[in-house]
Amino acid sequence: MRSFEKSKQAYKEAVTLMPGGVNSPVRAFKAVDMDPIFMERGKGSKIYDIDGNEYIDYVLSWGPLIIGHAEDHVVEALKKVTENGTSFGAPTIMENKLAQLVKERVPSIEIVRMVSSGTEATMAAIRLARGYTNRNKILKFEGSYHGHGDSLLIKAGSGVATLGLPDSPGVPQGIAQNTITVPYNDLDGVKLAFEKYGDDLAGIIVEPIAGNMGVVPPIPGFLEGLREITEQYGALLIFDEVMTGFRAAYNCAQGYFNVTPDLTCLGKVIGGGLPVGAYGGKAEIMEKIAPSGPVYQAGTLSGNPLAMTAGYETLRQLTEEDYQEFNRKGDLLEDGFKKAASKYNIPFTVNRAGSMIGFFFTNEKVINFETARTSNLQFFAEYYREMALQGIFLPPSQFEGLFLSKAHTDEDIEKTIQAAEKAFAKLI
Ligand code: PMP
Repeated sequence: MRSFEKSKQAYKEAVTLMPGGVNSPVRAFKAVDMDPIFMERGKGSKIYDIDGNEYIDYVLSWGPLIIGHAEDHVVEALKKVTENGTSFGAPTIMENKLAQLVKERVPSIEIVRMVSSGTEATMAAIRLARGYTNRNKILKFEGSYHGHGDSLLIKAGSGVATLGLPDSPGVPQGIAQNTITVPYNDLDGVKLAFEKYGDDLAGIIVEPIAGNMGVVPPIPGFLEGLREITEQYGALLIFDEVMTGFRAAYNCAQGYFNVTPDLTCLGKVIGGGLPVGAYGGKAEIMEKIAPSGPVYQAGTLSGNPLAMTAGYETLRQLTEEDYQEFNRKGDLLEDGFKKAASKYNIPFTVNRAGSMIGFFFTNEKVINFETARTSNLQFFAEYYREMALQGIFLPPSQFEGLFLSKAHTDEDIEKTIQAAEKAFAKLI
């Protein structure tokens, strides 16, 4: 039987030090009615908590660790860089190397700016869209999460959805009224919004595969429709690929769907587990950013050698074949879970984009936040706890996806399916 005694003690102390005892709400386990588990180390597909329990990890630091924990090349490269100094307040060659790699892989990116988080990337991208078009409003989708910038904290997904805080206090009315929200996959809703606000809409920001209400892929024609309508109204199309970038496909979601946005936001995988974000796009638009243009954005540690190295060493190791392998492993996991759920007559729907996997305890087809919310959250919480007790570490929210890494083996997946079968058998 697993003990979580040390985690319990650590959490007791943490709540006296940090709001809710955590530094990121997604690290809280509120939705599954559990105290957070404190981790000590990770290697490959496994993580180990401070009580010595081992887990197969499907959180992967919320997505970045696509080649697994503490991957040897990344660790070696980081050691070397650290010995030479961690930041200089001046450029290093590693910034060029990562930018070049990003440019080669991401179809829409001609010029890219490195920042330190996904939130920074999206905040800067919408500022740029506003500055470039000289318009005020932004259109986003319900249940999508784009970080915690004021303009984007409206009907947001991820932790905001998990904790039921759709419109955060502290966002001034004047800012909130410039954010228009429409259900995901609702092209007619987008058209209506443009008919009403088109003259003042600077752009659409969209997760090309939504990953913050569980995983919800675009229905055929949705992204193409967004491209068309933004062009028609002179607004910018911003793909928030913080989660999907280098995760959903080798050339990101935009390469996979063959839809080219004006601007792209990146994060997670691009930093290989260190704090990195980026935004980029057409040179003509990106040149408006300071110091080449008037739209200001800056960051003390942006482009620092440690973060650039972790990102570069991670991206460098990803091949097109790896993404085929992600699909194969994703199929295994999906099939196993479907069989287990059907054996016990559990309402169950899967949405998957390669190694991004969304399991929902509902029989509804999940195409937006409303349908995602038909999931049985109580059942999810019970299943979560059962899986944790069996050494399977899942995102502690129905509104977050699971991730696979290169390090996950068929054996890991088989064990996970067996654990799910046991959990389902017990809970039904
Ligand atoms: N955009 C998307 C699509 C995300 O999934 C996230 C984080 N989950 C963000 C933006 C914000 O990134 P960060 O947490 O690094 O600020």
